[in-house]
Formats: sequence, C-alpha cells, structure tokens
Amino acid sequence: MNLDKLKTTDDINVAGKRVIVRADLNVPIKDGNVTDATRLERLVPGLKALASRGAKVVVISHFGRPKGIDPSLSLRPVAAALQGLMGSSVTFAEDCIGEKAAVAIQSLKDGDIAVLENLRFHKGEEKNDPEFAEELAKLGDLFIEDAFSSAHRAHASTEGLTHHLPSYAGPLLMEEIAALRTALEKPQRPTAAVVGGAKVSTKIPVLTNLVGKVDKLIIGGGMANTFLQAMGTMIGKSLSEPEFDATARDILSEAKQKGCEIILPVDAVVAREFKEGAANEIVDVGNVPFDAMILDIGPQSIAHLSEVLASTKTLLWNGPMGAFEISPFGEGTFSLARTAAALTKAGKLVSVAGGGDTVAALNAAGATADFTYVSTAGGAFLEWLEGRELPGVAALTQ
Ligand code: AMP
Repeated sequence: MNLDKLKTTDDINVAGKRVIVRADLNVPIKDGNVTDATRLERLVPGLKALASRGAKVVVISHFGRPKGIDPSLSLRPVAAALQGLMGSSVTFAEDCIGEKAAVAIQSLKDGDIAVLENLRFHKGEEKNDPEFAEELAKLGDLFIEDAFSSAHRAHASTEGLTHHLPSYAGPLLMEEIAALRTALEKPQRPTAAVVGGAKVSTKIPVLTNLVGKVDKLIIGGGMANTFLQAMGTMIGKSLSEPEFDATARDILSEAKQKGCEIILPVDAVVAREFKEGAANEIVDVGNVPFDAMILDIGPQSIAHLSEVLASTKTLLWNGPMGAFEISPFGEGTFSLARTAAALTKAGKLVSVAGGGDTVAALNAAGATADFTYVSTAGGAFLEWLEGRELPGVAALTQ
C-alpha cells in the first residue's frame, strides 16, 4: 500500500455531482439526544466545503451493532444533530439503498446534504456483499472515504464501494493518516511509545510491531505486571496473564536484539481492594505484598518516565498506566499525560495518542487539546499500530 497515492477531491469538479461520503456518525445518544457531538463537529467543515462547491452530499455511516432493522439505532436523531451543526437543512432518508434513498437524493439541489439510514440495517454491509455495494453505488457519482475508524474493516461502505465509483480520501481520513505517518514512518528521533492497558494478550501484535520501530517502549498498566512476573518479580494479587509469560520474554528479547529499550515501572501504587478510594501504599515493584495488587505506577516511575519523555521527540500512546477510572489510581496516567501535553505545547514533542480508554484518560487529565493528534478510532488505530494494512485505506490507493 503506497499512501502517497491517496487522492482527495480537491482538484475534482464536484459541482452537481452526487458525492457519497462514508462518515463515522457513531456518537453517543441518550433519550434521542446526542450527548457528545465531537465526531459530528469534526465532520462539518469537510461537508460544508463540499456543499459550497456545489456537490449533492450523501452521508452514509453505520451506527452501533444492530442485528437487522432496529429503530433504537436509527441515524435520524444524528441527522437532526448534524443539521443543527451545519446550520442548514439536512434531509434524512429512511433507508440507505432502494427507493427511499433514491427519492431523497433526487430531491437534493446542488449544495444540499442528505444522511441515509444506518448501513448495518442491511446484512450486506458487514458481509461486503457486492450486490449491496452496487446498490449503494447507484446513489452516487463519486465516493469519499472519511471514516478512518471503520477503515480496518472490509465492508461494503468502506472497501466494496471503491470497486464501483471513483474513490477519494476525505479530509479527516487524510489528517488521521498524516498524524500516524508522522509518528511511525519518518518520525523525528528519538521515538518512544507508551503502551498500557489491562492485558498483554490483546496487544501482542502492537508490542511486537513497535519493538521494531521505536527507540523506547514504555510498558505500563496491568500488562506491565505480566512482564514483571515473567522476569521473576512477585506481583502479589495483581492482574496478570501467566500464560503469556513466555510471550513477554520473547518481546523482551526481541527488543534487545532490535535495540529498543523496554521501560517497566520501578515502583507502584498498590491496594487490597479494586475500588474507589481504597487504602493504598507505594512500594518498589520488588516489594509488592502477597495480598495486594498493583493499580498504578508510583512516583519514582512517573519521575523517570517524565525524564524519558523530555528527551523524546516523537511519542505514540495507547493505553493507561493504571486503573485510571478509579481514584486515586489515575495519577500515573494523568501526570504522564500532562507532561506529554506540556512538552508538545512547548514545541518539544510530537505526540500522537489513540484508543477508547486512552482518549478518556487524556480527557480526564485535561491533556487532549495539547497533544499533536488524538485519534478516536479505537480498532483502526490499534491495527495501524500493529503495522497492518487497513482494507478501507488500501482500496483507495489502488
Ligand atoms: P485496555 O482496554 O487494554 O487499554 O485497558 C484499559 C483498562 O486497563 C482500564 O480500564 C484500566 O482500568 C485497566 N488497567 C490498567 N492498569 C491496571 C492495573 N494495574 N490493574 C487492573 N486494571 C488495570
């Protein structure tokens, strides 16, 4: 996959054309109202630009995981919220293919926008059924993929459509890819990655890929416990995966071979209970009491990691350093996030972070705005970190 081959519609005359935009409209909804419109807000400038160039804009997206038609997962309220943000009328079509969709699109004038109903109300979407992709393609003249978060799936609306319509990358997709390339392809060195979270087992390919790419790999969170244990450290009742000890050792030896320094916590905040406000103490990682669990990195680790960040030029971050949702076990994550944010703000660091929990942790730390780029694409971001080709992106480079 040659990412330099990605094309945008910047040089294309879209006036009067029906432009299908694959967006990510997966916003949280409560009682029919959108509770966090961040994803929609990001989308608006690109849609407005297309509309102002005279395109008939047809927005498509999946929404949640319906099994067939499910009114609770209709995109109607999302279309209404988008209309509010656009400040102009947005037509909603009750189906994403067939007559209802066609009639809604026929009614569009140049510069108008329509949102079609949840793609996943049809089985063909996730199956990447060529007939379903063809039905979708009938509704447009051009296709713009602008949902990086769905690009790791070869679905009809991501990969399938590219076989039927001239296909382009949207501005959000381009922005996301540019940020990830800055961090992984030709980064300013030295580079570091922070990988945390609950389990090693879910991030083995991420760790394996990063070991070959970054200069320093900082491992924290529950997954650090498995590494400590694999090195013979007693970790009491900490969350760990003993069945992955050998994998952890393999990663350590591969890192050594490839000249990547693995950095594990040297001290920890431990508690006997996994609950808010649980009594806790700080111990060196070699002194974890048999009946206690590691729930965060300790102050010495924070100080050391802050020094590491200060001498780093490019940082990738996925996963928290501890059980950050439970006070006071978020301090390690928050403190490190604020350090990275401050270094970025001072122009000393390029920082790219992503993943569901990571975004929540950076938000809780008040660090998001100062990071260079924060990706909200969970699965796709992880697959990129794994070094995998994303079918929805690869299809645009053919
Ligand atoms: P992940 O989805 O793999 O990124 O894992 C995120 C989850 O890991 C969060 O819910 C954290 O609470 C949890 N976590 C991080 N560190 C620890 C730890 N030391 N013990 C238990 N859970 C942890």
